[in-house]
Amino acid sequence: MSPDEVDTLGQRLIDTALAMNERGINNGTSGNVSVRVPNGLLITPSGIHYDQLGPADLIEMGFDQSWSVVASGSQQTRPHSEVGSLRPSSEWRFHLDIMRERSDVNAIVHAHPTSATALSIHDRPIEAFHYMVGVAGGHDIRCARYATFGTEELSRNALDALSDRKACLLSHHGIIAVGPSLESALSVAVEVEVLAAQFLAALAIGDPPLLSASQMDDVLAKMASPDGYGSSPP
Ligand code: 13P
Ligand code: ZN
Repeated sequence: MSPDEVDTLGQRLIDTALAMNERGINNGTSGNVSVRVPNGLLITPSGIHYDQLGPADLIEMGFDQSWSVVASGSQQTRPHSEVGSLRPSSEWRFHLDIMRERSDVNAIVHAHPTSATALSIHDRPIEAFHYMVGVAGGHDIRCARYATFGTEELSRNALDALSDRKACLLSHHGIIAVGPSLESALSVAVEVEVLAAQFLAALAIGDPPLLSASQMDDVLAKMASPDGYGSSPP
């Protein structure tokens, strides 16, 4: 990729990270975002507010785990002394492993939204209480087993929970949403949080009745069909 292409993609990555906070699914420096590039990914640096980032501050990481600060962009936004403190997100491991294992994924959004995190604290998947659960690709949105942030164990647990899915909860932590583009990963992340809030509300007055497996199969088939969810009316 040319430096200009990296700059453009990097700005879209930063816009996605900013949008997580603006749309209320994340707070402060929590969360992280990555996007696929040839032989690896671009990822947000660890612990830096997204509104202080420019494309040159992002981290380019190879599948061999080598990494460097992009710093080749047209505009260097950080004082030289601070550039040395830029390092990959502490969650680079699951970003790298997901990109390596899932050829359908070009972008990953990780956030700490309130309702989904509340469910994750109870290790409670989002069950088929609403047909929109199908947006994440299956009959439920699983909750990955707890492991310390940034570990290989968390990455393994997340990959398990994401099997055939576009999103999962992370126990006592937050969510991961994936997609073919930054826009689609962000949109799934926002939908997961909306569903989590609705599920919590439904749970407040008892265990909600769920859609059956065959009802969810019908939903998934319709969502996948050309005249399915999100297509224009005839
Ligand atoms: P980073 O700032 O290192 O990306 O960490 C945020 C986070 O959500 C860790 O789980
Ligand atoms: Zn996190």
